[in-house]
Amino acid sequence: MAAYVSSNGIEGILRHAGLRMAESPNPARGYVREDYLFTECMVCGVEAHYKPQYIMQKTQEGEQTCRACHWRAWNRGSLAVYGRQVETQHSEGGEDDPLLAYEHERNVRSAQRRAQEHDYELVVLLDDGPGDRIVVTRCINCGKQGARRLYDLGRCSCGGPRAREGVSYANTARQVAREEMPHDGSVYESGEPASLAACTSGCLEWWDSARNAPLTPDVLTRKSKRNVWWICPRCHLSFVAPVYWMTWHPSCPECTQVQQLRFSIDWEEHKRQDVADYPDLLAAWDDEANPFTVSMTDYRSYRFVCPVGHHPRQTPSSYLNDGCRHCRAARTQAEPNQVFLRQTNPELAAEWVRVIGDAEGRYTPDNVKESSRRKVVWSCLACGYEWTTTPRERGLRINNRCKNCGKVLGSFAWKYPSLAEEWDPRNPTSPWNTTPTGRLTFKPRWICARNPDHRWEMSIASRVKHSKGCPFCAERSAG
Ligand SMILES: [Zn+2]
Ligand SMILES: [Zn+2]
Ligand SMILES: [Zn+2]
Ligand SMILES: [Zn+2]
Ligand SMILES: [Zn+2]
Ligand SMILES: [Zn+2]
Repeated sequence: MAAYVSSNGIEGILRHAGLRMAESPNPARGYVREDYLFTECMVCGVEAHYKPQYIMQKTQEGEQTCRACHWRAWNRGSLAVYGRQVETQHSEGGEDDPLLAYEHERNVRSAQRRAQEHDYELVVLLDDGPGDRIVVTRCINCGKQGARRLYDLGRCSCGGPRAREGVSYANTARQVAREEMPHDGSVYESGEPASLAACTSGCLEWWDSARNAPLTPDVLTRKSKRNVWWICPRCHLSFVAPVYWMTWHPSCPECTQVQQLRFSIDWEEHKRQDVADYPDLLAAWDDEANPFTVSMTDYRSYRFVCPVGHHPRQTPSSYLNDGCRHCRAARTQAEPNQVFLRQTNPELAAEWVRVIGDAEGRYTPDNVKESSRRKVVWSCLACGYEWTTTPRERGLRINNRCKNCGKVLGSFAWKYPSLAEEWDPRNPTSPWNTTPTGRLTFKPRWICARNPDHRWEMSIASRVKHSKGCPFCAERSAG
């Protein structure tokens, strides 16, 4: 069995499945069929991990790969779920329905609980209408993300965090200077500002200032569950949706359905067409295969000749949609903004030791990008353990823990060094082993940096979001 799929082949496979890559693509090398790819659905925008093998199988069976689209279509089989809320809202003439909002919030909480019981984080509750509840979850151990029906939720295929053996308590092997995140809740764990007014998803364009008045985006956070009014810039539909939904991925209920329909019509049509049906493709055809017998949905690569004289090998549909891939690569290389690992992921840069086979030390975090496939030796900031893997592998949400001590990328200790210094070492988990929003089975204990006799218990959230410090010091300064 061919273990590798070329990156060109992967594009075709994804396109046929209505997906695109959500991780940085790697044009140089192939993909292992059993590797998880992080993808984004072109119809609904849901991001999820799938194996190329799985995608090919679903496509062959004529089924949509995106599980979010799949289960939502399943729900719609009996009821127009997404449309229902819109109609009710319309007929009631403009006010939030507090009952619906309350019900949704309760559903989110119960979905969160259920996800946690199975060692997942809830990314979003996609559908909580009258059909089956559909959620996007992320495994807290391996980071694998996927959409599914809530009641299908089972243990992740990685075995979950309990499968992780030999994980010890991570200390600080070496100190690295870094900027501390603010402690007032004005930014999220990712470092992005919390205010809706600073949202870059494009949803502000959809904001209906007339119907939402006097409410304005600067008084809401991007993760707010509040139902507000939006106007679709394309079809001008006025509808109600919670803020977090739109900041995550602005979408219009009507346009989404139309797109979905169009996609399946296109796909059905392409199935019946071959390369020769497209004059542009026929003119560029440079392969021994007969263009009258190669289907437009064929995901194998064929030879084309572009107007410049390149001979790219790619799938018919990728050539049709994007043109010659050599021309495309040349265009992206001409773009000046080269951003390297030091800027995009300072934590990885701090763990960088050297590139394998690079005796002169030519490669550094200052000239290598995070999508690089160079073999790099890393040294864990927490335990000093050294291992070799590529920047790309480390950047993926899957497998981003140190194998030796369980330190996680983007840990509490990395983001809040001054708070981590007050972490009581008798806590069962180290500040390197948890993220600022990670689930803990205990309330952390703290030792005051100013006076080690000051000891107290407090959640990470209180410290990070509400800038709460040592209660004894606070008492003294107040009194
Ligand atoms: Zn989808
Ligand atoms: Zn997992
Ligand atoms: Zn629309
Ligand atoms: Zn070309
Ligand atoms: Zn480690
Ligand atoms: Zn104190």
